[in-house]
Amino acid sequence: MGVLTGEHRYQACRDEDCQRFACRVYAEGYRDGYADGQAAGFSEGYAAGYAEGHADGQAEGASAAAGSG
Ligand SMILES: [Zn+2]
Repeated sequence: MGVLTGEHRYQACRDEDCQRFACRVYAEGYRDGYADGQAAGFSEGYAAGYAEGHADGQAEGASAAAGSG
């Protein structure tokens, strides 16, 4: 207790020139993580979208073949 908390949270800090150590480290890690996350998110999102589209296409094709469309 007695530690300064909540006043300046590095998670919420949007000051790119902030000199607080926690903020600088967090911002750096955030940028790296963001870039990596974007790349990973794209391939993962693509894979997920592809899987869902593939399943939907299969389902539609199946119902059309069954004549219930
Ligand atoms: Zn800050």
